[in-house]
Amino acid sequence: MSQPLKRDTILLVDDDPVARLLTASVLEQQAFEVVQAGSGREALARFTEHSVDCVLLDALMPGMDGFDTCEALRRLPAGSNVPVLMLTGLDDEGSIARAYEAGATDFFVKSTQWTLLAQRARYLLRASRMRAELEQSRSKLAKAQRIARLGSWEWDLATDCVMASDICFAIAGVAPSARPVPADQFFQFVHPDDSATFLGAVARLRATAGEFDIEVRAIGPQEEDVFVHIEAEAERDANDCIISIAGTTQDITQRKRAEAQILSLANYDSLTGLPNRRLFQEALSGEIDSASRKSGKLAALFVDLDRFKNVNDTQGHGAGDALLREVAERLSQCVRWREGSRDIVARIGGDEFVILLTAIGESHHAHRVAERMLEALRKPFVINGHENFISASIGIARYPEDGNDAESLMRNADAAMYSVKAQGRNDLRVYSPELNVADRQRWELEKDLHKAMERDELVLHYQPQIDAQTGEVIGAEALMRWNHAGKLVPPGVFIPIAEVTGIIGAMGEWALITATRQAADWIAQGLPPVRVAVNIPGSHFQRPGFVEMIETTLNDARLPAHLLELEITETMLMQDVSSTIASLKQLKKLGVRLSIDDFGTGYSSFAYLTRFDIEQLKIDKSFIADMNENNDNEIITAAIIAMGRTLKLEIVAEGVETREQVKLLQRHGCHLMQGYYFSKPVPAANLTTLLTELADGQMPEHWKLAIPAARNGRVIPMLHSARIAQVA
Ligand code: C2E
Ligand code: CA
Ligand code: CA
Repeated sequence: MSQPLKRDTILLVDDDPVARLLTASVLEQQAFEVVQAGSGREALARFTEHSVDCVLLDALMPGMDGFDTCEALRRLPAGSNVPVLMLTGLDDEGSIARAYEAGATDFFVKSTQWTLLAQRARYLLRASRMRAELEQSRSKLAKAQRIARLGSWEWDLATDCVMASDICFAIAGVAPSARPVPADQFFQFVHPDDSATFLGAVARLRATAGEFDIEVRAIGPQEEDVFVHIEAEAERDANDCIISIAGTTQDITQRKRAEAQILSLANYDSLTGLPNRRLFQEALSGEIDSASRKSGKLAALFVDLDRFKNVNDTQGHGAGDALLREVAERLSQCVRWREGSRDIVARIGGDEFVILLTAIGESHHAHRVAERMLEALRKPFVINGHENFISASIGIARYPEDGNDAESLMRNADAAMYSVKAQGRNDLRVYSPELNVADRQRWELEKDLHKAMERDELVLHYQPQIDAQTGEVIGAEALMRWNHAGKLVPPGVFIPIAEVTGIIGAMGEWALITATRQAADWIAQGLPPVRVAVNIPGSHFQRPGFVEMIETTLNDARLPAHLLELEITETMLMQDVSSTIASLKQLKKLGVRLSIDDFGTGYSSFAYLTRFDIEQLKIDKSFIADMNENNDNEIITAAIIAMGRTLKLEIVAEGVETREQVKLLQRHGCHLMQGYYFSKPVPAANLTTLLTELADGQMPEHWKLAIPAARNGRVIPMLHSARIAQVA
């Protein structure tokens, strides 16, 4: 009978009940036993009650935070060796350093990559288990050696011969003998490279009549490398003259091997066996030092696989792992031929590799190695009988031309890699300060953006938000477009620039004015009232006078406040909590509605939401996008909807593109839907047409397919007014 496998137990510590629930459900699906704790104190209590194999610890918690908890955990009897994975909000160096200082084994940036998190936990467990086994075998070994692998000898200085125990002769590779053997013959086992050390120790011992304790390499009976530990002590006669040296010799090869293995676990990636980031950075700094003394040249290559995620997503993580191992092997082969170099291929992240090329003569050598790597990756990877094709983007930074220290070399190699990605991938590029044509274009855009407002080049498009049950248009999100040089530039391109340059303030104000006027205009045309949702950038929200500006805008447009909704992100809320709460309170007093945009991509903290008194949650479109193929996403979406409903929040799903998505969302009780299935963001005039048709009882055919009430022939405009009145 086979025994059921024991599941690994994870202690999951997070103050946010939903984040915890979501993480726990994914971990449980991945065959972990999960013990949950909602605070640092609770975590310590649970840890002593259960036998915990791994701890996932949220860094940010009220009261005792993750760092304090980790320190306290490390002080518990069973807590010193358990792997602790710190979940941080940001991968800034401050939090990472703090995590390590507090004794965390590793950190993980909180995200919705639940499967990655489970995978990471699994690696940590595997590494810690191997470590424990080695540690154990090391102590067993030491014991065994004390009993068996330790021999004694006696060196008679008068005859210069050594008498030794059998074991000792065996270690020395000398046939067991009943008679003493000449000392130089006996000590021949010491490796020539270490014989100076040994002879020095003997000389000192004879001079001082003292003792020594050294570890030296030795040549084993089969010419193999052996490590021995030699302890010796001078013996004196009645006249205090040294007559002999008594010593022990111990074979410590296995211990040394175990130590080396333990060291390797800390410095090597367990999946590919390649050096990890830590070892790479150490080596790079070391090589830069020596190159600077010898005016040598080096290069760092940053290799990032293109679309590796596809393999993971379509063929599973097992296939992904196999592919990474094969990539590691091929990349290593590209540097192995270079005799006498100390090149290193390291894996520093999911599908990121870095290569250190030492002793390169001309900088085009690095170029050539990179070309060889691209070529090596071009051949298909056969995994489970499937042929996979994968390419890579490679950035090169050279020492000393492109950077003087490890950090700037890595950064510039990374920048060069990014520019390859931006230009279509599967290529290589050497760093150069002017490399960013993209930067230049951006600068041009920036100049033009300043004039965009004056030239009246900004427009708002509107995307309707539809009641999932009745098909009514409840609201419309205003999305900005820039009519620039005959093209409509999407906000993803210009909003970030506007943020950096500060133009965003004026642009945001313009959007608010335009959208509120539009909403008032729809009412004036006799259409049923539609709420407008305006995206508010963080920097804008934090400005003094923001609330007053909203109030003036509403008054000028003569729009009831409940018909204006502000979309803000969680990150914005978290930036300056107390001043945010104050502004939100004032906005509430005005009667403006607040919506959390992109929910699920940041902290996903329901705890915070209750503090902020929000009306609406928009589930980020990434969850909706692969909801059908991806189980996690459906679970998460359902959990967000359920949790949101109990908190009396209105839930909007964004990015709804298919009828299946509509059905699932309806089944889980989502209130509103927004997405290409119903309508792309369209110019105001187009939405006016749509609203007019709906008011006349005409609904687009594909809407009817998705909306049960419409199929049953219910009249929609009546319901609509009732709904808005209720909201008011
Ligand atoms: P967002 O607030 O998350 O806006 C939703 C984005 O999803 C819009 O992209 C919209 O066109 C897109 N979208 C809607 N339905 C679907 C769908 O079914 N499938 C897919 N794949 N996408 C869909 P857009 O218009 O490019 O806007 C991008 C982002 O730019 C917005 O993300 C928002 O963060 C920002 N943005 C847009 N307008 C403004 C604005 O007036 N002010 C500020 N501050 N930011 C804005
Ligand atoms: Ca939005
Ligand atoms: Ca969004």
